[in-house]
Amino acid sequence: MENCVFCKIIKGEISSNIVYQDDDFVIFPDLNPKAKLHYLAVPRKHFALLSEAGYDEEILIGRILKKVSTLSKTLGLENGYRIIINQKGEKGNDAGQEVMHLHIHILGGEKLN
Ligand code: AMP
Ligand code: ZN
Repeated sequence: MENCVFCKIIKGEISSNIVYQDDDFVIFPDLNPKAKLHYLAVPRKHFALLSEAGYDEEILIGRILKKVSTLSKTLGLENGYRIIINQKGEKGNDAGQEVMHLHIHILGGEKLN
């Protein structure tokens, strides 16, 4: 998708320190970390919202979540982690989703409030 920052990262048009990638998704650090460790897990396929997900995207999200759990030690998240998916709504943006390419925030590396 043109003008999508995460599509550009996935294509290598914007540099990022990708720490994991496979056919389904990539993981890289968030530019503005909200915790000592803050990663973004981003599916290669561009779609913005969970409400848009069809069967393939449902499977994809499940695979990403499961894979994150198996990578947790490698990512330095042995003490646990928090997953957040911000979602813009039809009428507003209470969650503050900024990038309209679905992504999973993974936070940890310290005690979170
Ligand atoms: P959200 O508010 O859920 O849409 O989160 C978007 C996240 O993307 C924010 O936490 C930003 O800091 C992060 N972000 C934006 N541009 C980049 C980038 N080029 N590399 C890494 N993270 C980014
Ligand atoms: Zn995109």
